[in-house]
Amino acid sequence: MIYSPPRYIQFFPSFGCDRECKFCFNRDIISNRVVAPDEFAFMLKRMAKGGIFELDILGGEPTLYPHLEHLVDTALGNKIKVFLSSNGLDTNLLIHILGKNHNRNFLNIGISLNDSELSDELYDFISFEKPFIKSVVTKDRVLPESAKLILQNPEITYYLLFMDALTKADLDISFSFPEFFRIFEEIRKRFKNMVHLQFSCKYIKKVVDITKPAG
Ligand code: SF4
Repeated sequence: MIYSPPRYIQFFPSFGCDRECKFCFNRDIISNRVVAPDEFAFMLKRMAKGGIFELDILGGEPTLYPHLEHLVDTALGNKIKVFLSSNGLDTNLLIHILGKNHNRNFLNIGISLNDSELSDELYDFISFEKPFIKSVVTKDRVLPESAKLILQNPEITYYLLFMDALTKADLDISFSFPEFFRIFEEIRKRFKNMVHLQFSCKYIKKVVDITKPAG
């Protein structure tokens, strides 16, 4: 049998977060565990050895993880491409990490916008650094006001995310996939070439873009 490694690893260095989003796919995980630097150093070596050169860092909120800068440096030092997803809590830390002369082809930041309000700091960070932006679609609100503002900027890459329903109660706030897809197509008419779709349903053939799922 021919071994085919996955393209990337999704990594949750800790689950601590300052928010409690109703749609969070980690909301039922209660854990104070924080991955130690020697543990992720071991993981990165195994990744490189296994031919996996992309790391998707999620949480929790990764900027609350105490070793984030070291983790990013170590991954990039091992020639592993990093995708870091944040809710924008600590833009100073993100600016610091981005300012370390890292190759931006190897370090990608994603910001989740799911609240109506957008702080001046986060708006400035997005306008200047142009991270990719994503929002989870729920029945409470399809697009938060903050995302509508950011979508005016044609230089921003935007991802609309399908909400995973993990429990029966989640069905009250999540759309079915066909409904979600219709919403996606409507939004794309208003924001041409700016909205990408992200999902992992192998039965749907009409795919605009597929990348790493993350809330
Ligand atoms: S979706 Fe992201 S920001 Fe919201 S609670 Fe989960 S980890 Fe925190």
